[in-house]
Amino acid sequence: METLRTEHISRRLQIAMLVIVLSIVFISVPLIVSSYQNYVKSAEALKEIQMLKMVADLSNQISRERAPANSAMSSHGKQREEKIVELKQYREGVDQQYRNTVNTLKQKGFTPIAQQLESNLAPYLNKGRRTVDAYIALPREQRHAEQLDHAIISMFQAWDQSYIALQKLVNYSHGKDTQVSNYYTLILLLAELRDQAGRVASNIMAAVSFQQPIPEGNLAHTLQTQRQARYLWELIHVVQSEHDKTNEFSQLHNAVKTEFLDKGLPIIAGLVQQSTQQEPYSLDGTQLTDAMVDKFVTVVKLQSYILDYSLKVADDQKNNARDKLFFTLFLSLVSLLTAVMTMIYAKKWVFEPLIRARYQLFKLARHPQPPVALNEVNQKIVQNDFLSLFDAIHRIENMLQQRDALEFQLKHIANSDSLTGVANRFALDEYIKFRESQPSQFKQTTLIIIDIDHFKQVNDQYGHIVGDVVIQHVANQLRQHVRSSDLVVRYGGDEFLVLIEGIELDKAQEIAEIIRLDIQQAPLSIASEVPHLAITVSIGVTVGATSWISLLERADQALFRAKAAGRDQVSS
Ligand code: GH3
Ligand code: MG
Repeated sequence: METLRTEHISRRLQIAMLVIVLSIVFISVPLIVSSYQNYVKSAEALKEIQMLKMVADLSNQISRERAPANSAMSSHGKQREEKIVELKQYREGVDQQYRNTVNTLKQKGFTPIAQQLESNLAPYLNKGRRTVDAYIALPREQRHAEQLDHAIISMFQAWDQSYIALQKLVNYSHGKDTQVSNYYTLILLLAELRDQAGRVASNIMAAVSFQQPIPEGNLAHTLQTQRQARYLWELIHVVQSEHDKTNEFSQLHNAVKTEFLDKGLPIIAGLVQQSTQQEPYSLDGTQLTDAMVDKFVTVVKLQSYILDYSLKVADDQKNNARDKLFFTLFLSLVSLLTAVMTMIYAKKWVFEPLIRARYQLFKLARHPQPPVALNEVNQKIVQNDFLSLFDAIHRIENMLQQRDALEFQLKHIANSDSLTGVANRFALDEYIKFRESQPSQFKQTTLIIIDIDHFKQVNDQYGHIVGDVVIQHVANQLRQHVRSSDLVVRYGGDEFLVLIEGIELDKAQEIAEIIRLDIQQAPLSIASEVPHLAITVSIGVTVGATSWISLLERADQALFRAKAAGRDQVSS
């Protein structure tokens, strides 16, 4: 049964260990999962920002293609050929970027965006280019401002498609919920600003090139794009978080104002004013393009900065998330190991010794013992054959109590006279030792010596058995006349001592006299068998002495005197 119990405890320990391990697992797993999800999200955000940068770059390049296209469309003669070559070269760069972007998007799993570029951007770009090329191919005299404007607008449409792709990328992104979400908006705003900045000039390009008044529609557009450019510039400042407003950002943002808004836009405003006042334009188409190109540079620089910065932030985010994931994994593993090690340690150094101690206790408790009074609960426990550790302790407690009782009995037997049951010489010795240790010693001790008169004759006449009865009779009488605090000793043969503390001599004599008379008068239990047997005793009494020896000597002398004076009397 004990083996079973030990196994039972081991099993409980294992269950406890399992519960602790499971608790740690329950706490750790959600943490690990959320850290992992964060990591995946930030990795995704990084990938998305990389793609966003790529599409934004493509979008910029398409937007910028308007510059060489406008130059080619508005130049003449020898310059015209040069500008056409420049435009072709530029287009090759754009095409290269387009192919790269589409391929990368597909590789990285952004196929819908790649398809959007293929099915919308590419046709519009080709259409725009065809319109531009058709215009360039026209002899100068056949050209009209409307045709030029149409070619410019068709390039706007190509850009619009790249912007839609950019928006889609932001819409479908997972990283929008991460800390880099701000950058998605900023990248969109900057692409828009970059384009609006370009359109400000493009809207009036045709009219300026042909030295004609700006049509109402274009006038409205150019005013609108100017306002929109300013609005976007301010919005960028609002969207950019305070934390990310680095010195570089502030410088670049300010440069957009000083260069583009404060210097670039007034050029357009000047031309618009010249148109409304029907004055000749101060610039031709090519000059306008050249004047505005470097004003865009500030916008492009700000956009590049934001793109690089967001890429860096996204990369940091990813690294942080990865470190956090590793840290969570590490911490969970350490907690798990610590818990397991602690349990193993506890099992080996705490529970196993306890189980062993318990087993020993059971063994001790099973030691045969006389039945003990069991309470109701205990009885039930025994009936159920279920012995807990506390029951074992309880049983051992009972056993110890019984042993104490036995020890007490043994001590009592050793200290009492077997014939009479009163104290023997051992007990007297202990009493003397105890008295000697007290400050009063024997000063208040009354010693009464009782000796049966002519006892030898009793033995001789009636035999030893009767003699024993007589001795028992005397002892019984003595016992009846003393208190529990007094001591009755069978000192030897037919001689008894009675020791009483704290009484005066006359009281002691009185007690001795009563004892003498009662022994004489009390009927013997064998009176019918020995009708002529009369028992008398001689008694010596003394109170107080400096030592036991002198107390005993004085009492003995008193007894001697009682014997000498004819026996059956008390002497002191
Ligand atoms: P006295 O009056 O002078 O005391 O005379 P006595 O005969 O009593 O003399 P003493 O006290 O010397 O005798 C004691 C006797 O008691 C001697 C011994 O045989 C007897 N005796 C001692 N122990 C026992 C006992 O345990 N049982 C019996 N039956 N006799 C005992
Ligand atoms: Mg005697």
